[in-house]
Amino acid sequence: VPEPSNAFVVAFRTELYLLHPTLNELFHFVDLTSEDSNFEERYEGHLSQFINGLNEFGASTPEMELLGEAIKRLWDQNRKLVVQSHTDSLTGLFNRRGLLKAMIPLSNVAQRNGRNVGILMLDLDRFKAVNDSHGHPVGDAVLRRVGQLIAKTLRKSDVVGRFGGEEFLVYLCDVHPEHLLDVAEKIRSTVELEGRAVMGGYLSEPVTVSVGAAQGDLRGTAQEAVDELIKKADQALYKAKETGRNRVVIASS
Ligand code: GH3
Ligand code: MG
Ligand code: MG
Repeated sequence: VPEPSNAFVVAFRTELYLLHPTLNELFHFVDLTSEDSNFEERYEGHLSQFINGLNEFGASTPEMELLGEAIKRLWDQNRKLVVQSHTDSLTGLFNRRGLLKAMIPLSNVAQRNGRNVGILMLDLDRFKAVNDSHGHPVGDAVLRRVGQLIAKTLRKSDVVGRFGGEEFLVYLCDVHPEHLLDVAEKIRSTVELEGRAVMGGYLSEPVTVSVGAAQGDLRGTAQEAVDELIKKADQALYKAKETGRNRVVIASS
């Protein structure tokens, strides 16, 4: 493109229509698989480099500045919407949609690398009684706290979210079959012990969770294989409830 300003219009168009959605996904995905990075900062850095480049090459005109501002605002709004639609507002963890969105690409990678994936389904025990005797706001506070406790025990590369009302799902990216019980048991005991310390002030009954766990390598379609693991973990959770609650049951593989 002979005119620099036209070249920048082309570049902006490419950025906005082609690269923006792709980079958004890409940066987000990289973020999920790395321990210490932040995709929002990285994309923001990318955008400011782009806008600085524009100024450096002297093609900055009021129109260009307006375009730059428009892209930046679209990005900010888009980011808010994406975060909102994938986040559970009560706990700040993934909601069901966010969980599925994060698990699919990770499962494809796990399948490719022949990794063993784990699923934990967790459900608060006799939670209805907490609401009934202390009211919904206290129930909400308990849910929030349990969500934090679960997240605290996991690795950053594991995925945790609120699957439904008082039910959480944990996706373990790469777990040795013999370690599955340890991970699940660590969550169960953390909720029991720390939950008592933090919530004992206003709850008469202890807060506990039952856990159903399943693991396996992913055969066939990764998504179907994960759905199958979720189903198994759910059945194991049912068994944990039946056999006394506040315990872990591992599905046979
Ligand atoms: P179980 O040990 O068998 O799981 O018993 P439970 O009482 O936990 O099970 P049940 O499914 O009967 O009750 C679940 C309760 O969770 C009922 C519902 O009011 C409560 N709940 C679901 N979502 C929320 C929420 O967002 N906030 C609050 N405070 N309570 C919720
Ligand atoms: Mg329950
Ligand atoms: Mg339930």
